Amino acid sequence: MSTPLLPVELIRKTRDGIALTDFEIQSLIQKYTSGHIPDYQMSAWLMAVVLKGLTRPETLALTQAMLHSGETLNLKEVDKPKMDKHSTGGIGDKTSLILGPLVAACGVAVPMMSGRGLGHTGGTLDKLESIPGFNTQLTIPAFIELLQKHGIGFIGQTREICPADKKIYALRDVTGTVESLDLISASIMSKKLAEDLDGLVLDVKFGTGAFMKTYESARALALSLQTIGLDAGKKVNALLTNMNQPLGAFVGNALEVKEALAILSGETLLNKNGLDLFADTRELSVLLAAHMIWLSGKTPTLSAAQEEASLCLQSGRALEVFQKVCQAQGGRLEDLPIPQHSHPVRSNQSGFIQGFDGERIGFLGIKIGAGRTNLLDKIDPEAGFQVHFKMGEAISKGDILWTIFGRSLEEIKVIEQELLNTVIISPAPVPVEDLALIRETIPFSP
Ligand code: URA
Repeated sequence: MSTPLLPVELIRKTRDGIALTDFEIQSLIQKYTSGHIPDYQMSAWLMAVVLKGLTRPETLALTQAMLHSGETLNLKEVDKPKMDKHSTGGIGDKTSLILGPLVAACGVAVPMMSGRGLGHTGGTLDKLESIPGFNTQLTIPAFIELLQKHGIGFIGQTREICPADKKIYALRDVTGTVESLDLISASIMSKKLAEDLDGLVLDVKFGTGAFMKTYESARALALSLQTIGLDAGKKVNALLTNMNQPLGAFVGNALEVKEALAILSGETLLNKNGLDLFADTRELSVLLAAHMIWLSGKTPTLSAAQEEASLCLQSGRALEVFQKVCQAQGGRLEDLPIPQHSHPVRSNQSGFIQGFDGERIGFLGIKIGAGRTNLLDKIDPEAGFQVHFKMGEAISKGDILWTIFGRSLEEIKVIEQELLNTVIISPAPVPVEDLALIRETIPFSP
């Protein structure tokens, strides 16, 4: 083993486009995490990465160094293939609550380790915690027991998982170094690889409500994440999906659980035009579930997996799994909060819905308590919105575009005009190609 270089020499090498060795990256991450490298030197190195990029082996080494900076799950006692999904985040994205039980009901284990919502997109943990009594702070043995019994468990990321990523992400946030594909990919994949998975399905979203605003940037992220997965010996499929409008009908924590339950129960929600507002949530959940089932090797083809997932949904087996796991984690679905107040928002013009300002919708959600700007903010589980029309549909002046839900009528009325402004209405019909929910699938190929 060679002697590690001084941090300043590592910074110089990256600045000059000279690749670091695995050992150098490991030592940099280890020493930073243990407090032996100061923030100013790590910031300089991160900025060099933003400007010069990392090579493929460097990105893998960084991912693995962050992964091994803390504890990782060991799920060898669970005698089923283990698959998870990662979404880069969107508005109204409650697919985890549907596809998790769906995949588990098809005989594949789903160790779901999720984060809280921060910024404009919601987190699975907050949605689950809107169910009174639901406990996401499980011990690892209790989590393994759930996986063995129900094929699924929901757990929050513990402090012991990837501590290096936590420390580095906080530093990136205040040093203008979030925007690096290599750093983003290593950060996301280190946390996913800590789950001891056999495979992963990525839902990389593009559009106004997504982390990546354009299809091209989302595609680059998908490929980068997939490459790390492949280099780490995992099967990874990626889907590029449209986030230019909220997914499904509801945005908000208890409201999204309600939508997930309705879909698992086989319900639809038809709008004035007869369009099922749950259709996109259902379609995406079943497709992502099918990719997980297919990748696990349970079915020979994707279409066989799609058929199995659809049957599991229709038969009510997935609903049963969700109810059982909720109960096992202390959740009382029958006590799901019902919003105390609602307020309709009517369109002030006629035309066709061309799109939504997703990021703005997310921030308005924070304003009424459905999300948070820092991890100490308290969430109002009842708060949120229902969208009544989807992109491409014709609307008339006076139609109800939104319903806002919350604890105080005064509070929810404040955002009425701003919410109305998030909808882009055009006199001309919307091109069909802009409406596709799934833009591309990038399958695993070793
Ligand atoms: N999400 C993460 O987990 N890490 C990043 O760097 C960006 C988004």
